[in-house]
Amino acid sequence: MTAKIKKTIEVSSKRSPVVVVLGHVDHGKSSLLESIKDFKIISKESGGITQHIGAYEVDVGNPPSPKTSEGQRKITFLDTPGHEAFSAMRLRGAGVADIALLVVDAAQSVQPQTKEAIMAIKKAEIPMIVVLNKIDLPTANPEKIKGELVKIGVVVESMGGQIPSVEVSAKEKTGINELLEIILLVADLQNLESDTQSPAEGLVIESYMEALKGPVATIIVEKGILNKKDIIATDLALAKIKSLEDFLGKPIESAYPSQPVIVLGFESVPTVGEKFKSYKSIEEARAKIKREQPKRGLNVSVLEAAPEKKVSNIILRGDCFGSLEAIEGMLKNLPQDKVNLRILKSEVGDINESDGKLAEMSKAQIIGFRVKIDAGVLKFLKADEQKKVRIKTFDVIYELIQEVRNSMEKSLEAEITRKEVGKLKTLLVFWAEKNRQIVGGKITEGEFKKGLKLDVLRNEEKIGTGKIINLQRDKKDVDLLKKGDEAGILFEGNVKIEKGDILVAHIEERKKGEL
Ligand code: GDP
Repeated sequence: MTAKIKKTIEVSSKRSPVVVVLGHVDHGKSSLLESIKDFKIISKESGGITQHIGAYEVDVGNPPSPKTSEGQRKITFLDTPGHEAFSAMRLRGAGVADIALLVVDAAQSVQPQTKEAIMAIKKAEIPMIVVLNKIDLPTANPEKIKGELVKIGVVVESMGGQIPSVEVSAKEKTGINELLEIILLVADLQNLESDTQSPAEGLVIESYMEALKGPVATIIVEKGILNKKDIIATDLALAKIKSLEDFLGKPIESAYPSQPVIVLGFESVPTVGEKFKSYKSIEEARAKIKREQPKRGLNVSVLEAAPEKKVSNIILRGDCFGSLEAIEGMLKNLPQDKVNLRILKSEVGDINESDGKLAEMSKAQIIGFRVKIDAGVLKFLKADEQKKVRIKTFDVIYELIQEVRNSMEKSLEAEITRKEVGKLKTLLVFWAEKNRQIVGGKITEGEFKKGLKLDVLRNEEKIGTGKIINLQRDKKDVDLLKKGDEAGILFEGNVKIEKGDILVAHIEERKKGEL
């Protein structure tokens, strides 16, 4: 890899890389984005980042080569982690990111969403960097993760492949500099350039309505230079730009490729993932805008579920056709191997009584995006306490998708896992009464705690079960005893313990179902 880098580094790129962070839930995507922010954006101006705008830029000092050009010393991070958002943007034809970081918890293992993320990255045909996070944990085992990744076709450099990997701790902010340098190296290989002469074009990455300012959108310029007072339009929304701000909220006159900027001046809220272009006049821009489709029919997408599969029904309401399209796109990307998601209806406008009736009939959940719940539906539901319909509304698309994912997961049976925590050899049986006994013995492995469940083994065969009602040592109550300790146990169970039996203490953990 080194030889190749040296060669291409001389062709200086003009555009900084745009980076997206993907990976399984809880593996530390948000923490990583936060720690890069804290590490590199010193809140010298305007008190740092005060609002979530969907992207930020970092200035990377000490570039890996003195020949790296000015423009390349910045990196733009998309601040909406998760492959669902990423895939939805791609679905709408957007290039979005140049590089993907695949975050894997080094103390865990490759998980279902790690695999989904890898698939999304491969589809996007962009380079990936494997980020092994939580390296601060004593149980972290990055080599194990690398081995697991090889099995699913992701071969990192130290395993003989082409994909760079880096060990970091988002918590302790270690490895961050190294990660940023690797991002620049990978960007150098891509030779990222952009035509600054052409009319400005780009992508909406975040948008919302603000009471005082009106529609607010964060966009990333992909081509050309966007200036204050320019006229831009997406498929559905038009803006005569009133103001441009950088990601710190500082007013700016122009925005360059790869730079995230906040735009004020849209007539309506543009949809995340939409492309925008600049036009010479309002008339020209308006002529390009597609007419909003007023309503769409029932049964937008009904996938016939196999009989053994769970089905999760939802009714969607959105503020505009574009939002619904984006949401449906993301929902279709949710894994449906275990639970089928059926969108029974997807319409523009507030949630009304007919939605309530349909939801009740079909046991569906109603999900709204930037819409209100009208009085009719509330009256309809209140009229009869038996009518149980879940209605939720959202302003942020990713939260909506997460909610649907959660409710699909809830419909799956929880997985029960059993973990052994200790073993005791019975030496004495003191006393027996109905289903209770006091037994004494020595802990030969692990530990024993009050309340734990027990399996009773005789000649290595399980003959019954019970639990530890009370635990004593030297006739005094204790909560915990360890290997080597002598223990007195008040046992309650469905079997009579005899001298020589082995008691195995264990815990059962309920793990929620995963899609
Ligand atoms: P996300 O769902 O992938 O965005 O994960 P989060 O960033 O929310 O992190 C999930 C959990 O892991 C949180 O409790 C974090 O505090 C924790 N976490 C994240 N990074 C690290 C790390 O480097 N070390 C340790 N020990 N914990 C971490």
